[in-house]
Amino acid sequence: MSPRPDLGPKPTLGYTDSRIARAAEKRTDEAALRVFAQDPRAAAYVIGGEHIVMKQGAPLNDPLFTLAQARALEGATETVFLGLMDGAPRFGFGVTPATAEALKERDGFHVRDLRSIAVQGLVAPEHLAPIAEAKAVLHWHARHRFCSNCGAATQPVQAGWRRDCPQCRGQHFPRTDPVVIMLAVDGDNCLLGRSPRFMQSMWSCLAGFVEPGESIEDAVHRETKEEAGITCGRVVYFRSQPWPFPTSLMIGCHAEAITREVVVDRDELEDARWFSKDEVIAMLQGRHPQGLTTPPPVAIAYHIIRAWIDGEIGFD
Ligand SMILES: [Zn+2]
Repeated sequence: MSPRPDLGPKPTLGYTDSRIARAAEKRTDEAALRVFAQDPRAAAYVIGGEHIVMKQGAPLNDPLFTLAQARALEGATETVFLGLMDGAPRFGFGVTPATAEALKERDGFHVRDLRSIAVQGLVAPEHLAPIAEAKAVLHWHARHRFCSNCGAATQPVQAGWRRDCPQCRGQHFPRTDPVVIMLAVDGDNCLLGRSPRFMQSMWSCLAGFVEPGESIEDAVHRETKEEAGITCGRVVYFRSQPWPFPTSLMIGCHAEAITREVVVDRDELEDARWFSKDEVIAMLQGRHPQGLTTPPPVAIAYHIIRAWIDGEIGFD
């Protein structure tokens, strides 16, 4: 047996381990919400579509604004009560994408997309989970202004966690879309694929949306079969990750491959093939002869792949 490779300390998974206590029982408590809004420790993440607005700093930017600072910006949309961080109220403050775009030119501001912020570490890591929470809910508001039942304009209620229809009395809740993301393994080999959207060198786990009426296991089986022609047996849940692009929940799994022949669905993937453990270790260590890489540690795919290399999972 070869010695365990040195892959360095295990990095944290982005957007997880939120320090926010959501205090959901306060969402209907107007008096408590007023007190929160006036709390001198209250602060908001300002988000315009894909753009996260920050106060420029070095080396880290500050993504928190006082509510007064946020309200002074033009183009406000919804405000969402995210919860309490160490007792301090936190809000998601929506602005139009055009407002966020314009702030790129303003001194003292730094405006970037969340993927870049997470991968490049542009804010302190504790901010990633609440920004993900705010971005996902604000995106839902932007896309659900009208009742899906009767078409009337809806109104945000419950501190931004529900929209109500005044016409048919329908209540609408923020949605989360489950996605299975899995590493199919066969002994010392694993199946990786490439989406045409990926960076040129990157290979990753296969993934796909869970469909209505489908279990996580069924979705893993179906997606692996559809995208790469591989039949899987046992499926083991690993961990999950909110993925606010725009509102997914990634459900990480390992799956036991019981067939070997890869048949790539070229509508979904650019390519898929088997990788040996040695090849994957070279990718994780940044010394693959063709320069191939795995996704960065902010993404759950890195952790799914690494857990298999670290020997935490196997189907022997
Ligand atoms: Zn309605």
